[in-house]
Amino acid sequence: MSNNVANDVTQADVTQPSPEKPILIARELSRHYTVSRGFLRGHATVKALNNVSFELIAGKTLAVVGESGCGKSTLARQLTLIEEPTGGSLQIDGIEIASANAAQLKAIRPKVQMVFQSPYASLNPRKQIGVMLGEPLKLNTNLDAAAREEKVRAMMTKVGLRPEHYHRYPHMFSGGQRQRIAIARAMMLQPAIVVADEPTSALDVSIQAQILNLFMDLQQELGTAYVFISHNLSVVEHVADDVMVMYFGSTVEYGSKTALFAKPLHPYTRALMSATPAIHKADRQIKIKLVGELPSPLKPPSGCTFHTRCPYAAERCVAEVPQLRPLYERLVACHRVEEIYSNCTV
Ligand code: SF4
Repeated sequence: MSNNVANDVTQADVTQPSPEKPILIARELSRHYTVSRGFLRGHATVKALNNVSFELIAGKTLAVVGESGCGKSTLARQLTLIEEPTGGSLQIDGIEIASANAAQLKAIRPKVQMVFQSPYASLNPRKQIGVMLGEPLKLNTNLDAAAREEKVRAMMTKVGLRPEHYHRYPHMFSGGQRQRIAIARAMMLQPAIVVADEPTSALDVSIQAQILNLFMDLQQELGTAYVFISHNLSVVEHVADDVMVMYFGSTVEYGSKTALFAKPLHPYTRALMSATPAIHKADRQIKIKLVGELPSPLKPPSGCTFHTRCPYAAERCVAEVPQLRPLYERLVACHRVEEIYSNCTV
């Protein structure tokens, strides 16, 4: 890879990394909340998600990366229609969600499913897993009880559970097995999209790889597209096709996994990679240490929101918001990328 940052890639090239059909298109998606500042102090607007744009290609995985509080989970709630965005556009399978009628929304909801972080909290402890897994079929299909049971047992086998455990309760399973149940539940209706919010972070390290491999096997077999939310770049490197790095509710770098892992450009991306052991040989030498916490969402920094923690912050960074622009086969939002990395050899 050349040392000079190429600037001849159009935004269209980057936002459409594959000629395949996007199953989900987000354009300037925003979720702002109005919160009270306290007694007699009025209200403030928290921009939990701010003008985020991306495309998810059918059967591919987009990893969304960032620290806690960067907007990843807010994004997940918009994509799974749990919350309504306050701005921008969200298209799922060609339907614009903001203008969809009740019948269209009813048809779209089963197409987007979610797997949560905690397999302990996401399963109803009072229900046998066979009953739990059969519920989506009961609500969304005309299958009779015998056909539903047959499908549930087949899905249990597919995710590595024993079908004879159909009548067991969630507490009778280990953490890894419970996450398999949660994945089976998400997959029962063969959704086009699964949003997985830190699906392995509550599991033992030894189990994490098994669950990641299960996700990948199911994607290969069923063609499901994943939005895979994680703070763990080792996991992202394993599963992703494209990567979007978020900071303080906005995208700071977005492109193919290959481009980002070969040459991370944004100082925040590089800091995240520096903090992940053994992920990038060069970053073990050129450490960028993140200092301090995310700023308060009630008092966002001016200009580049990363300037309070960025070792390269300059006057312009404090005054001017950097826009996402195409560089080296990805989008990056930083005023000083060319300056900082003009002599970078990785
Ligand atoms: Fe750092 Fe400035 Fe780039 Fe923001 S714009 S990441 S503060 S160098």
